[in-house]
Amino acid sequence: MPKRGNIQVAVRLRPTAAFSEALSVTDAGVTVNLGHSKSDSSSFLDNQQKVYTFNFDRVMKDAPQQDVYESCARPTVESVVSGFNGTVFCYGQTGAGKTYTMTGDTSMSYLQRGVVPRAIIDLFRLLNERPGTIATVRVSYLEIYNEQLYDLLSPNEMTGHLQIQDDSSGNTVVRGLTMPVCATEEECMHYLFQGDTTRVIAEHQMNNASSRSHCIFTIHVEQRHNTSVAEKVVTSKLHLVDLAGSERVTKTKSDGKILQEANYINKSLTFLEQVVVALSTKNRDHIPYRQSKLTNVLRDSLGGNSKTSMIANIHGETAHLDETVSTLRFAERVMCVNNHAVVNESMDPVMMVKKLEREVRELKQELAMHDAIANRAGVNYGTLSDDQIFDIRQQVRKYMAGESDDIEIVSVGQIKEVFRQFKSLAGTVTDPSGTIDDQDHAQEMTSGAGKPTAAASRPSTSGVGNVTATSGFSVGLSAIASSASPVKTKPKIVPRVVQEQDKDAEPAPSKEEGFERFCAGEGAVMSASVSENKAELARKKADRRSLANEVNEAKSRIDTLTEHLAERSRTHPAEEDEAKGIVDAEASQMTDELKAAKNAYRAAYDRLREVTAEVKAIQTLGNRAKAQLLASFEEWYASSFPNAGEELEDDGPCVPVEGNPFDEARKTVTRNTLQMVAKRRIMSRKREL
Ligand code: ADP
Ligand code: MG
Repeated sequence: MPKRGNIQVAVRLRPTAAFSEALSVTDAGVTVNLGHSKSDSSSFLDNQQKVYTFNFDRVMKDAPQQDVYESCARPTVESVVSGFNGTVFCYGQTGAGKTYTMTGDTSMSYLQRGVVPRAIIDLFRLLNERPGTIATVRVSYLEIYNEQLYDLLSPNEMTGHLQIQDDSSGNTVVRGLTMPVCATEEECMHYLFQGDTTRVIAEHQMNNASSRSHCIFTIHVEQRHNTSVAEKVVTSKLHLVDLAGSERVTKTKSDGKILQEANYINKSLTFLEQVVVALSTKNRDHIPYRQSKLTNVLRDSLGGNSKTSMIANIHGETAHLDETVSTLRFAERVMCVNNHAVVNESMDPVMMVKKLEREVRELKQELAMHDAIANRAGVNYGTLSDDQIFDIRQQVRKYMAGESDDIEIVSVGQIKEVFRQFKSLAGTVTDPSGTIDDQDHAQEMTSGAGKPTAAASRPSTSGVGNVTATSGFSVGLSAIASSASPVKTKPKIVPRVVQEQDKDAEPAPSKEEGFERFCAGEGAVMSASVSENKAELARKKADRRSLANEVNEAKSRIDTLTEHLAERSRTHPAEEDEAKGIVDAEASQMTDELKAAKNAYRAAYDRLREVTAEVKAIQTLGNRAKAQLLASFEEWYASSFPNAGEELEDDGPCVPVEGNPFDEARKTVTRNTLQMVAKRRIMSRKREL
């Protein structure tokens, strides 16, 4: 919200031996009584007796430099350190004391120093008092003379490159302006004096050393937190402006070059006045900032993002009454302007990226911890590998074939891939009845592994890959006829007709029977270890569940106790109890309980990690044992019954897999089994041919 408080207007009357009787001054106002005295002979006066009263934020007559700084500039400097833009500018006729107010006495008396050197010293002092921040101070010194911009800190005369522009935050900047960094106030002073000596000074009838140019000394401040990772940057600038004299051209009795200068000066000040008039007029949309360089550069200072302080300098002699009235009128207009000052905060993009990277890292750690607690170890939240995509494809296939009831959801990336696979598989359905095209299916047969559901198994035999209580791991046939598949009819493999069968040889048992025999005989040890693994896995999983509960319980106990303790310290402040010599037994018991709960949490969490690792190891080992059992059985069956027909259902034997679908061990086992099945199939086809 624009605030009246963001613009302060003060009037400073310079000391003079002949102060006009027509002027009277109070703390807040100046009253000009025109035609007050017959002795006043100003050309401005007419026969009418008129009294004008002007009120300001403060009026200072014969005020020392220190007081002027304290009341008109110091609050602005403090705002700049807090991150706001600030402007202090002097307005008034030549000789009224603008340069004296801003720079100080030409004799460079320390006591007579003006607003600018005082602001520099104060600014560095205030910045040094902020140990939590690192500040970078730069200065620039711009002169506007005859509607041209001059860089007073640039060693070369070329000035055409200076351009007034808006930056990304909407603040006005002069591109191309020299802005040296100042590490100390001494360096800052050095640049101030360097610029002062370069100023264009022309001889003038009213004031020999008066400037007919507008000078803007700007201190740019950039502040960031003292840490290397701080991404927030606060930038602010302090414009210290010494305007050219506001008197009318006719009064200067100038000619030639000086006349032209005066024309430019008056023009830009007229535009400044127009801007102020526009800003003080209600509902005025267009503010003519761009009409002059001065108003364009000071765009933020008037009506923009700045805390601005104006000092209207007055030479209170009777001869200057008309200029006094015009200065007071202008100052009164400025009183009606509202500024919208905000702290200029922005983000350093490099630091921002670093911060986001750090956040991502921490969130991944957090996710890993939550997964561990929820028994979901090893979930990958990054890009899916080819193997993982392959696994998901298999799961989707099985789901579509009715071989599995659900697909366990583990991460957003996995969900997306599941949808992608659905889409891709839906695209392969060519038959209106919903069968998956043969080529795709055949390809899948050579690589597919799956876990048949109970419904998909033949009632008379155990399911493919199921571990049974009696025979261990089963290679029973998956149910072709009874498949619950909504979309797919599995091609039935017709057993190869045995042309020449050894009459004496024992008829080959079915694979299921063969497998049971194998497990009872040659493969007994292997089969037993598969069963043991399975039992052990079930035990460890139960342990893991109870440990996860323990961790959660300990965590919620910690939370409750912490909350109770905080509540207790609010209702029973420790200092009061100590003062009364009371020992808060309840609080100390709660503290002990909290300690115990933290210990329990740590112990359970450590144990949970161990058990989770054990579960993974058992799964890996179990899968390997199953694969070995299966491979040995195949070898035994092939050598024991060389004439046995190909009875194995096309999906081939499967290894039941539990736990994480992305488990590395499972993939290896699955791939080995699949390769084995594929090889067998190729060999059997060759034999058929
Ligand atoms: P301007 O910059 O407005 O043209 P100056 O600051 O150059 O005016 O002031 C003109 C003269 O008046 C200077 O010699 C200056 O020292 C003197 N002067 C102005 N204001 C004061 C003041 N408040 N106290 C003492 N001397 C002053
Ligand atoms: Mg001056």
